[in-house]
Amino acid sequence: MSVRTRRFSELTWPEAAEAIERNAGVLIPIGSTEQHGHHLPLGTDALIADDLACAIAADEAQDLLVAPCVTYGYRSRPLSGGGPHFVGTTSASAATLMGLVQDVLESLLEQGFRRLALVNWHMENQNFIYESAYLALKRSPAAVANGARVMIAEAGFGGLSDEMMELLFPGGSFPGWDVEHAGIMETSLMLHLHPELVLADRAVDDEAERHPFYDMLPVPDAFVPKSGSLWKARQGTAEKGAACWPEVVEQMRRGIALELPR
Ligand SMILES: [Zn+2]
Repeated sequence: MSVRTRRFSELTWPEAAEAIERNAGVLIPIGSTEQHGHHLPLGTDALIADDLACAIAADEAQDLLVAPCVTYGYRSRPLSGGGPHFVGTTSASAATLMGLVQDVLESLLEQGFRRLALVNWHMENQNFIYESAYLALKRSPAAVANGARVMIAEAGFGGLSDEMMELLFPGGSFPGWDVEHAGIMETSLMLHLHPELVLADRAVDDEAERHPFYDMLPVPDAFVPKSGSLWKARQGTAEKGAACWPEVVEQMRRGIALELPR
């Protein structure tokens, strides 16, 4: 089926009512406003989350809408996002993020939407958005009885194939998703999706002096890579992004088709 727009914010209210009537789903992209090294914009996570939701919704057969992106995320942490010490990083507290996402979910459930998915691209938001979904459903027993479900995709990059991991991180050089921040994958995806926003000649290969398994407060300087890139951004290429993006989109599409069928 073909509709005028997949963007929730561009619908009129009668079109939203029609969407509820035909049991359309709603994807809620969630990102951050956070430093991404010298070469990627502060809105990288929000842009990728929104692009991902739009790409999933482009499959008309699943009849999905894309809600306005949550563009602030939970506090940036040094070992997975560089931390709050970089100018530009503008974060929300856990309570604020949880409250916002819970309110949006409850409102959509109350309106009658029954197929909802959180599409997250900022590691620090994990668990908090799960809690929002948990609490929203707990407070919406009528919607649950009516078949409402919420999918929580906390890490859109989590399920890549071995072949894709080998392409991105050859020879088993995958450093862990925590440091894949303004690193190879994000740089590659941004070169593919928004090349005009990437200052590729300013990308650096970097890593923190120390990256232990635990965290510390106050933040030790040695935990923070000076550039804000947590890994080897110079290995990011548009070709890797072009190869990786369809797989990221497709695995999410398959998950949604399975868990939130029309
Ligand atoms: Zn990011």
